Formats: sequence, C-alpha cells, structure tokens
Amino acid sequence: MNDLKRIAVCPGSFDPITYGHLDIIKRASQIFDEVVILISVNAVKTPSFTEAERMMMIKENTNEFDNVVIDVLDGLLADYVKKIGAIAIVKGLRAVSDFEYEFQMALANKKLYNGAETVFLTASSENMYLSSSVVKQIAYFGGDISHFVPNNVLEFIRKRLVKE
Ligand code: ADP
Repeated sequence: MNDLKRIAVCPGSFDPITYGHLDIIKRASQIFDEVVILISVNAVKTPSFTEAERMMMIKENTNEFDNVVIDVLDGLLADYVKKIGAIAIVKGLRAVSDFEYEFQMALANKKLYNGAETVFLTASSENMYLSSSVVKQIAYFGGDISHFVPNNVLEFIRKRLVKE
C-alpha cells in the first residue's frame, strides 16, 4: 500500500484516445498525485488499434503531464488497483446512458476491492457526444474529425480506417 501518493487509475479501451479522454485525464491529474492511464481489454469489442499503437498515441499526447503514466491491464481492474495501491478509479460520464453500466461496474469493483472509490467526472459539454466509435465512424465515411482527436491520432485513423 502506498500511503504517500494518492494514485488514481483511468481505465478504458482508448481505441483511439480522443479529446474527451484527454479532458478527463487532465482534470484527474489536477486532483490526484499520480494518474495511471490503463489500457484495458474490452471483452466485447474488437479493437481497431493494437495496444502498442494505442500506447503510442496516448504517450505523445500526455507527455506534458509529469504525473501521468500509461500501463496495460492484463487481468482484473480491481486486482491492479489493489496491487499499485491506488485510491480511486476515475471515469468520465457523458450522459445518462453511461450511468447504468458505470454504476454496475463501480459496485462490482467495490465488491472485489473495497480499498478504492470510483470517482465520476462529468464530461465537458463540448465532449458530451464524443466517443472513439463515433470518431471512427465519421472518419470511415470521410468526415472531418480534427476537432475530436489530436493530430497524431488523426494520422493513425487515416491510415487504418479511412475508406479509399
Ligand atoms: P469509449 O466508451 O469511448 O469506448 P473508453 O472505454 O476508452 O471509451 O472509455 C474510457 C473512459 O473514458 C470511460 O470512463 C469513458 O466514460 C471516458 N470517456 C470516453 N469518452 C469521453 C468523453 N467524450 N468525455 C468524457 N469521458 C469520456
């Protein structure tokens, strides 16, 4: 258990990272001593980008935060949180539609490990509708996604997903 640093974990698929994720990460980094961006496997979604690619995209956009680190989850979130001595799991809430699922996950994680709280940050109004899948969908059909993702992510998406 780390008693000195107040560590928070931000789990997600980040497939790829968007300005919505970055907003939550930035705000979490202002509240906690250290924030771990945890690339997690979503059992029901097939990712568009490898873990290494997602890691690279995140890294280039979080270099400016000196208390943010990136890791990949291989197992249960609750076990990871306990192992590193984190006190919080930070999640962004976009709309009522996120709530039901996140509420369930928060209760399940609390049951699995009682030592950390799930903390919800409200999505900023300009990112309310933004998700990785919406961005990919718009890009696929040639829409402009430059307001939704940083430049390096734009390049990754262009190469991988844009319909020729
Ligand atoms: P998605 O739901 O887009 O697949 P992730 O699984 O990568 O996203 O989500 C990781 C975390 O980031 C979740 O807590 C999610 O609510 C949050 N998040 C994703 N997009 C946004 C956004 N536009 N604004 C605020 N939080 C967001």
